[in-house]
Amino acid sequence: MNYISTRGGLAPVPFKVAVMMGLATDGGLLLPETLPTVDEQTVEFWLDLSYQRLAFEVMSMFIDDIPTEALRRLIDKSYSTFTHPEITPLVQQGECHILELFHGPTLAFKDIALQFLGNVFEYLLEESGSSMNILGATSGDTGSAAIYGVRGKKRINIFILHPYKRVSPIQELQMTTVTDPNVFNIAIRGTFDDGQAIVKNIFNDIPFKDTFRLGAVNSINWARILAQVVYYVFAYCRIAKATGKQTVTFSVPTGNFGDIFAGYIARKMLSAKRINRLVLATNENNLLTRFVMQGDYSLGKVVQTSSPSMDIQVASNFERYLYFLYGQDPQRTGEGMESFAKTGRLTFSQEEQEKIRQDFVSASVDEAGTTAIIKDFFEKHGYVLDPHTAVGVKAGLAFQGPEMPLICLATAHPAKFGEAVAKAIGREPDMPESLRAIKDMKARCEVLDPEIATVKNFVSLHAIY
Ligand SMILES: *Cc1c(COP(=O)(O)O)cnc(C)c1O
Repeated sequence: MNYISTRGGLAPVPFKVAVMMGLATDGGLLLPETLPTVDEQTVEFWLDLSYQRLAFEVMSMFIDDIPTEALRRLIDKSYSTFTHPEITPLVQQGECHILELFHGPTLAFKDIALQFLGNVFEYLLEESGSSMNILGATSGDTGSAAIYGVRGKKRINIFILHPYKRVSPIQELQMTTVTDPNVFNIAIRGTFDDGQAIVKNIFNDIPFKDTFRLGAVNSINWARILAQVVYYVFAYCRIAKATGKQTVTFSVPTGNFGDIFAGYIARKMLSAKRINRLVLATNENNLLTRFVMQGDYSLGKVVQTSSPSMDIQVASNFERYLYFLYGQDPQRTGEGMESFAKTGRLTFSQEEQEKIRQDFVSASVDEAGTTAIIKDFFEKHGYVLDPHTAVGVKAGLAFQGPEMPLICLATAHPAKFGEAVAKAIGREPDMPESLRAIKDMKARCEVLDPEIATVKNFVSLHAIY
């Protein structure tokens, strides 16, 4: 399986190259050259597999340049850090099947992809005898999942910038209590945007980037999408087997279009017969909902909500879907993205809008709606939703078809967003042991001024060669 760029300016590359490349060299995003589909018999066989076995079956349709045994080991290692034997268990609460994606080390769904990506990086660097320095900025959640993905790994150092005292106490501790020698937490005396701008600037310094072999772990890496495709297929298989129903609906709280794009790929593989139109759920940052329902993809202002990991306007994975919407025409995709960069807006023809609505339906859930569904769900079922999951549940219930199982993706453990949850149900959610424990752990963090030169200097002093 080879990978191409959505903008067409790249000769096809194998999986290993695609993973190390991250962003395509022509500025586009990487996609498989063809999408595999699966037949009746294969699905039948998949119904009984464990998460890890299924992950191997799905991933090996996209990866043909890592030997079978090595890929199996990478998968087993990646999910050995999860605390639930099913990895992503399904629990039924009333009309919803909640797909719990938060049993990894940082209690959020990004672990599923980043545990795998960290192991793949380590494997590939070992093979090539090389090393890399990962640099990124976080507003809270992605940083800790990335840090846990590569902690203690050989040949990789990681530098994560977060805004000093502007992340939640839990988020701060989840990052700074990882004291492995290859992990460097940098608290910037400034905002998330300051950190983001510094990181962007450093990546644009090509000699610096090359000297230190800088790598990124942002959500555009194909390996992250691929790891997420697995739980859609897994959930489909579990529900199909348990209920005998052939078609399911997924509801996905999304911001960067990453998680929902993984669902789109799963749907292409399994067919629209098995996975119904995806429910795309947004918070008050409703760019993607306007796109689906009105064919209007235009930038708004970011507003802060109780589901901060979805407080995003520019959806970094959107270009991947645009490529398919434009009939896999790389030139049009490139032109579209360029035009969007200039004007902050894309509009779509009637025909395209119909195509979009064959793939998705969408609803935006405001703050009051989020609080209300957390409260309602808790009163009805005694089950506590985190605010991101709540957005997905509310949207999912609005579009639920008769007789069709509804699977709602639970993207974070409620204890990570205790304050918002307490507002809804009148008490803090129960703390899992792993979160309680970090309060007493030793922390390590460097506090730096928000200056490019200062951060560069720190990175160059602590980089791995
Ligand atoms: C990142 C994140 C999301 C959104 O994921 P996308 O890939 O942007 O769709 C939703 N919920 C939580 C808890 C997250 O951390």
